[in-house]
Amino acid sequence: MDIETLPHPAWIELNLDQFRKNIQAIRKRIGSSLFCLPVKGNAYGHGLIPVAKAAVDAKVDLLAVSYMQDGILLREAGINIPILVFGAVYEEQVPYYIQYDLEVSVGSKFKAEMVDRASEKVGKRCKVHLEVDTGMKRFGVRPENVSDLYECAKSKKYLEIKGVYSHFATSEIPDDPNTMKQIKTFKEIRKKIGGDYLWHIANSGGVLNYPDSHMDMVRCGFLSYGYFPDGRSDPEIKPFLTLKAKVAYFKVVFPNEGIGYGHKYKPKDMSRVVTIPLGYGDGYKRALSNQGSILIRGKRYPIAGVICMDQFMADIGKGEAYVGDEAVIIGKQGEEEISVFEIARLSGSIPYEVLTILNSRLPRKIC
Ligand SMILES: *Cc1c(COP(=O)(O)O)cnc(C)c1O
Repeated sequence: MDIETLPHPAWIELNLDQFRKNIQAIRKRIGSSLFCLPVKGNAYGHGLIPVAKAAVDAKVDLLAVSYMQDGILLREAGINIPILVFGAVYEEQVPYYIQYDLEVSVGSKFKAEMVDRASEKVGKRCKVHLEVDTGMKRFGVRPENVSDLYECAKSKKYLEIKGVYSHFATSEIPDDPNTMKQIKTFKEIRKKIGGDYLWHIANSGGVLNYPDSHMDMVRCGFLSYGYFPDGRSDPEIKPFLTLKAKVAYFKVVFPNEGIGYGHKYKPKDMSRVVTIPLGYGDGYKRALSNQGSILIRGKRYPIAGVICMDQFMADIGKGEAYVGDEAVIIGKQGEEEISVFEIARLSGSIPYEVLTILNSRLPRKIC
C-alpha cells in the first residue's frame, strides 16, 4: 500500500508553475551565472523530490543538499544534474559519494587527504568544491590557508576540483560592511588562484543585494521558494506552498467553557469552535497556541487554546464553517493571507524554520 497517496485531512499544496516562474525571474537577475538550487531540509519543507524534478524542468544547473542521503534519494528519483553536498564528508561515506556522483565540500587539508585516500580505494576520482571561510565561521579554511589547501587538492590524483566557494553570514542586509569584506576577500583569492573552476558565494541575500557577488554561480534557496529576506512581496517571485487541512469537527461552546489541554482558552460569549487535524506532530509549532490564526471561507479566526500533537481548535465566533471545509493554515484564501513571516514572528522563529519543520506526514500535492 502506498500510504502517501491515500487521502489525509491535512496536506501541502505546491503550485509548481509559480516555482518555475520564480526560477525564471531569478535567472533574469543573475545573467550568465549558473543557478544552483539548494533543496536541503526537504527542499525547505516543500518536498525534496517534487521540487527537484520541477527544478530540473526549469533548467537549474545544480542542486545542493546538506546530507549525502538526500543526494542519493535524488539520484534514485532519476535526477541526473550535478548535486553538491554542503555538509561535512566522513571517510566511510566517500564510496557512496562516488557511486552516486555527488560533489563533496572540502574545507581542510585533512579532509582533502582523507577523500583522496578513500577515493583511491574505490579506484575512481571524486569531484570536490574547496570551501573557504571568508566570515561565516562554519566550514572552510581561513583565506590565508587557501593556497595551501588548493595546492594540496590539486596534487591529489583522486580529486577533481570543480569549484571553490564561500558562504555569507549577513547578506540579507544591504550595503553591509561584513558582506562587502567577504566579497572582497573571496575575489582576491580568486585572483591569486585563478583556474577554470566554479567560483560561488551568493545565497539569496547575495542575489538580491550584492550583484557583484553572483560570479560563476549563485546558490539561491529562500528566494527561489518565493520569499524575500525582508518579507516584501513581489509581482513575479511569490511563495508557492499552501498548508491546508479539512475541518474535522464542529461544536458550540458556552461562555467560559475551557477549551483544550489546561483549559487555556475560554470564550466570553457563546461561540462556535472547530477542530483542525494538524498539530505539532506535523511541525506546526506549539508556540502558536492562543497566538496563530487560520482562514476558513475567506475569514481569519484565532487559534483557541494550546496546539495538541495532532489537532488544534479555532474559535470562529458567529462565523460559518462545516465539517470538511478547507482551512488554510499557511497561504492565501480569498483576500486573506497567513504568511510564514507572520507565523515566524508569533512563534519566535524564522520563516526558514517554519517551512523546514513541516514534516513528511503531510502529503505534498502538486497543482
Ligand atoms: C542554505 C545555504 C544556501 C542558500 O541560502 P538561502 O538564504 O536560502 O538562499 C547557500 N549556500 C549554503 C552553503 C547554504 O547552506
